[in-house]
Amino acid sequence: MTERTVQQGTAPAVTEGDSAVAAEPPVVLYERTGAIARITMNRPEYRNAQNSKMTYALDDAFYRAAADDDVKVIILAGAGKHFSAGHDIGTPGRDIHRSFERRAGLWWDHVGQPGAESRFAREQEVYLGMCRRWRELPKPTIAQVHGACIAGGLMLAWVCDLIIASDDTFFADPVVRMGIPGVEYFAHPWVMGPRAAKEFLFLGERIDARRALELGMINRVVPRASLEQEVTSIAERIATMPRLGLALTKKAVNQAEDLMGLQSGMDSVFGLHHLAHAHNAEVGKDSLGGQDARSMRDARRASEASA
Ligand code: ZN
Repeated sequence: MTERTVQQGTAPAVTEGDSAVAAEPPVVLYERTGAIARITMNRPEYRNAQNSKMTYALDDAFYRAAADDDVKVIILAGAGKHFSAGHDIGTPGRDIHRSFERRAGLWWDHVGQPGAESRFAREQEVYLGMCRRWRELPKPTIAQVHGACIAGGLMLAWVCDLIIASDDTFFADPVVRMGIPGVEYFAHPWVMGPRAAKEFLFLGERIDARRALELGMINRVVPRASLEQEVTSIAERIATMPRLGLALTKKAVNQAEDLMGLQSGMDSVFGLHHLAHAHNAEVGKDSLGGQDARSMRDARRASEASA
């Protein structure tokens, strides 16, 4: 049985074909087929750049899949040519000045707060808090990755249990160019090893799916044309395992990763991340070191040309 609905921000899910949906495309799609829930980021015109509206719609979708007794495995994918180009730092739908009903923690609303307080409260909730919450979802999750998986896109892939990438995928975290030590969910040393993490961050360059596989950052590389089919097949095989066994196994591995310092490491780096944001705001015109999507792209192209 297939059940297809969409998640719209924090609003209740509405059925596709509803007139409200026609006016504004849903930012996240939710579909259940048998024991598999498929959650799809749906801002293809902006390479699935994540605004807060999308973050909360993703949270609605993950919550729904977690609560549904019929769902055993969850797939996270991106519509269009790319998985996700990262956090929204410049589309018309950028919504960092909007309030949302918070749910990752008890930090107060960032809107209207001064200086670093606003940024810290927002990123603790929308970026770090949400990613941690999704990592703890007690059902197996699989990131189905293709095209760009950049910066904030990495965070979404990394919180999933398995990462299956098509052969056209590229990964990068170029935010050191903003003077910031990587994205908010600082899992780099744990998902690719410390030395590779330094190279990945120092250069900010793209690595392809083969390299990511060599580093142990992803599970498999498959042809683009068969990506969805391969991911679905793996999800269906996992779904034959007992639900509690899967949940306890996931927790066992996550706990081992935490004993290797993932959680406390990330907390300490979050402080450095916000030191960098605050430094940028203090000495320059904004917390992103004066960079935007266009300047980041131009810098990458100039760097590639000189390579
Ligand atoms: Zn940040």
